[in-house]
Amino acid sequence: MNIIVLAKQTLDTEERILIKDGKVAEDGAKFILNPYDEYAVEEAIRQKEKNGGRITVLSVGPERSAEALRTALAMGADEAALISDEGLTDEYGVSLALAAYVRQHGCDLLLGGSFSVDNGAGQVAVRVAGLLGIPHTSSITRLEIDGGRAVVLRDAEGDSETVEVVLPALFTAQQGLNDPRYPSLPGIMKAKKKPFRCLQLADLGLSEADVAPRTERTSLSLPPDRPAGRRLSGEPKQQAAQLVRLLQTEGKLW
Ligand SMILES: Cc1cc2nc3c(=O)[nH]c(=O)nc-3n(C[C@H](O)[C@H](O)[C@H](O)COP(=O)(O)OP(=O)(O)OC[C@H]3O[C@@H](n4cnc5c(N)ncnc54)[C@H](O)[C@@H]3O)c2cc1C
Repeated sequence: MNIIVLAKQTLDTEERILIKDGKVAEDGAKFILNPYDEYAVEEAIRQKEKNGGRITVLSVGPERSAEALRTALAMGADEAALISDEGLTDEYGVSLALAAYVRQHGCDLLLGGSFSVDNGAGQVAVRVAGLLGIPHTSSITRLEIDGGRAVVLRDAEGDSETVEVVLPALFTAQQGLNDPRYPSLPGIMKAKKKPFRCLQLADLGLSEADVAPRTERTSLSLPPDRPAGRRLSGEPKQQAAQLVRLLQTEGKLW
């Protein structure tokens, strides 16, 4: 089975993020493999272990994204491809480039994350399925493959839905799908020798005009600082009364 995992390098949102000139300041920022894409990589490895095949991790991003792809290779993916072009900025262009690669190479199973933890549009993977004209199911928490069909369990806003899908198809991973492995030391060493392709738009038969962004980011800001905590005082009964009042007036619970 030929498996392609769509994987994006994201900012580590657990670390401090600074905005400078309307953009996230990259100096000192820490980058990681998008955690939802880690579930996708882990699932690809488990499916390969059961059904055989080959796993390619595919990304659109600047050169630094190679590090996230190396993490996926160290986990167990077989090869990586990185599409880098400054013209690829919005979900429209990024998904066009990813779909062009998949069309060129073909695959039986496409996996991605539910969303990226930095921009979080939740669009790219699903757009790729749309461009390829294949079925997709988002936010899956279980994947079982039997021949040319897949049965998936998906998280439907707290409820669970079981869906049967004909392959080739695309699925996006939700937390709970699996427990991603840590890359082992031998895995890290082996990753250095695995095939790693660097591509430009022209390699995919695309031009800058084809991927020209359809959206413009007009501003970017950090969430407001959280106000300091407040300590209640007095007898427990008085504190409970204060707490109820605060929840009503400031917590906006009623
Ligand atoms: C003018 C402009 C400039 C921008 N500049 C930047 C920038 O410098 N850096 C930046 O990170 N974003 C930038 N963006 C946002 C950019 O549009 C999104 O990062 C990108 O389209 C992916 O969307 P997302 O991160 O919300 O992913 P989502 O749609 O939330 O991702 C869902 C899933 O799709 C797959 N996926 C998403 N993106 C990729 C990718 N690049 N490669 C492989 N798989 C992917 C992954 O499986 C992921 O889990 C810019 C947007 C605009 C409009």
